[in-house]
Amino acid sequence: MEEEVAKMLGELKFTDEEMQDLEGAEMILEKEVPGSEKWLVGKLVSPGIVDGPMLIRVFIAVWREQPLVDATKLGPNMFLFKFGRMEGRDFVFDRVPWTFNGELLALKAFDGKLSPTEYDFCPLPIWIRVYDLPLTGMDVEIGKAIARKFGECLTADFRRGEGRFGEYMRIRAVIDSSKPLRRCVIVGKLNDGSPRVCMAKYERLPRFCYWCGTIGHELDLCLVAPNNVREDQLQFGDWMRVKFKPKSASLGAPKPGLVHFNSMNSGAGKFKKAVEVVEDNTITVGNVSARGKM
Ligand SMILES: [Zn+2]
Repeated sequence: MEEEVAKMLGELKFTDEEMQDLEGAEMILEKEVPGSEKWLVGKLVSPGIVDGPMLIRVFIAVWREQPLVDATKLGPNMFLFKFGRMEGRDFVFDRVPWTFNGELLALKAFDGKLSPTEYDFCPLPIWIRVYDLPLTGMDVEIGKAIARKFGECLTADFRRGEGRFGEYMRIRAVIDSSKPLRRCVIVGKLNDGSPRVCMAKYERLPRFCYWCGTIGHELDLCLVAPNNVREDQLQFGDWMRVKFKPKSASLGAPKPGLVHFNSMNSGAGKFKKAVEVVEDNTITVGNVSARGKM
């Protein structure tokens, strides 16, 4: 539908009369909507159309500690979530990405000046682990530089234990979820002169394609994959996911050792500083995502 409209807009020639701006539109659109700072707009990034009421019911239950006062469907796979408290909205927004049956529920701050199709759901904050770094490379500056290779750098986790500082470096960056996931960073050279390839894994990674490496579809619905792809041809895979051990850590206030960098400052698209997140937000409720055209 969005593509059809965009195509039409590119082809149609409008008259001067049609092109006259609505009187007072600018002023009306500048008006603040009371309470809208506690709202989030969500889009399920999926090739199928989800059962909207079912998704809303599930997230009302999942976020029951951060109660929603209202949730509505804005269109196919698009939703508006209204939280009762700012803390509730922040709790959910800081713990992006959320998934529903493995598919990404991308969230953005509400912006009354945008129509639902104008929201950019591509920027996605996510925790990334980068492995096999030299120990001298485990510092804030290198952490920042490495995170920037993935996108905008939000946080570096320098707490010791559970493999952090040693086995891997843990960073939170805003990636472009419409592009193939980055699999590694090159950090200097090995003794034999070859590039040191430091592999990356992602925490709570939504469903993605093992052929093209982008989030939102799987191999069977990939538009660029050839027919009859063999497993040994796949350049991406399940190995890019961090496998969580049974939950032991508690959520709460950020702990010493987490270094927060400047957050995104693009107005309403701004992400709050990331907080420690180790739980798995994956939600599975049977097969509710019908496959088909968006
Ligand atoms: Zn693909």
